[in-house]
Amino acid sequence: MNNTEFYERLGVSKSASQDEIKKAYRKLSKKYHPDINKEAGAEQKYKDIQEAYETLGDEQKRASYDQFGAAGANGGFGGGQGFSGFDGAGFGGFEDIFSSFFGGGMSGGGRNPNAPRKGDDLQYRVNLTFEEAVFGATKEIKYNRESSCHTCDGSGAKPGTSPVKCSRCGGAGVINVDTQTPLGMMRRQVTCDVCHGSGQEIKDPCNTCHGSGRENQAHTVEVRVPAGVETDQQIRLSGQGEAGYNGGPHGDLFVVIHVAASDKFERDGTTIYYRLHLNFVQAALGDTVDVPTVHGDVELTIPEGTQAGKRFRLRGKGAPSLRGGAQGDQYVTIIVDTPTDLNDDQRKALMDFANAGDLKVKPKKKNFFEKMFDAD
Ligand SMILES: [Zn+2]
Ligand SMILES: [Zn+2]
Repeated sequence: MNNTEFYERLGVSKSASQDEIKKAYRKLSKKYHPDINKEAGAEQKYKDIQEAYETLGDEQKRASYDQFGAAGANGGFGGGQGFSGFDGAGFGGFEDIFSSFFGGGMSGGGRNPNAPRKGDDLQYRVNLTFEEAVFGATKEIKYNRESSCHTCDGSGAKPGTSPVKCSRCGGAGVINVDTQTPLGMMRRQVTCDVCHGSGQEIKDPCNTCHGSGRENQAHTVEVRVPAGVETDQQIRLSGQGEAGYNGGPHGDLFVVIHVAASDKFERDGTTIYYRLHLNFVQAALGDTVDVPTVHGDVELTIPEGTQAGKRFRLRGKGAPSLRGGAQGDQYVTIIVDTPTDLNDDQRKALMDFANAGDLKVKPKKKNFFEKMFDAD
């Protein structure tokens, strides 16, 4: 995976701090700003810098980019084919509309408590087997999240009644408080203590949610985990987090991947490692053995005179790349097991073997006493 392009655009290292990224961004956008720099290509360069900073300047987007590349930073996978199924058109756009309409700060200072707000994000850990991580999997996730109350549909008022304009603040959600200070009378705006900022009073609260309009509900989603994921990678499911406020969108659900270890294989990215144990006769004379891979057994020819530590490559028998492209390989490392419990016939055969060649071997016959106190 080459997720370094945005870093290169800003001329910073992958380990750069947010501060360094911001500094580099400021410097470069000044240099290439179309109002200042009239050179050919400067405008494109300026746009590239903006794009890189939009991702790297945001910790969450940056983490996603580091793992999945540009598509990951935008909440998608593999060219956007990944997770759109979960949220229809996607809240990405919805959210953007909200922030441009409502995010600009209300006049009068302070945050408007009645403005739509996105709900909180949630995190859920999904455990995968080694094989599921290699081949991908569809997992059903069940969790509780705050949702709109099903009885009152989020209004907080008993069905058949509606919230009314707050009698104290007149619906503004804030009230003015005058305080005597050494500098004179100060007027401050504080959140209304009757409606707590909503601007609405509920005379007849809903029995289910007691007026909050929110309810903890069990929720189930399906997550399609792409082939080739690794531990600590995250998948964002837009709109699957907690309910928003004042009609704002739901937060997101971050599915954090955990891959269980395999008792046979190890994996590093797309490469899978396997240790093949041979006895010393197989190593010396050669053999044909079945080697397990996640794709099924593969026949491997061990040549005569294979040394311990020798590595064979089984092309294409590794894990797929998350970003597409060629599938990885499996490496098979040879371990030669030295026999430990020779019987007399084997002992004799080995001595004959040594004598047949030019090997000088003088095994020491152990007596009973030495055997008892053998150091190893
Ligand atoms: Zn309710
Ligand atoms: Zn009020």
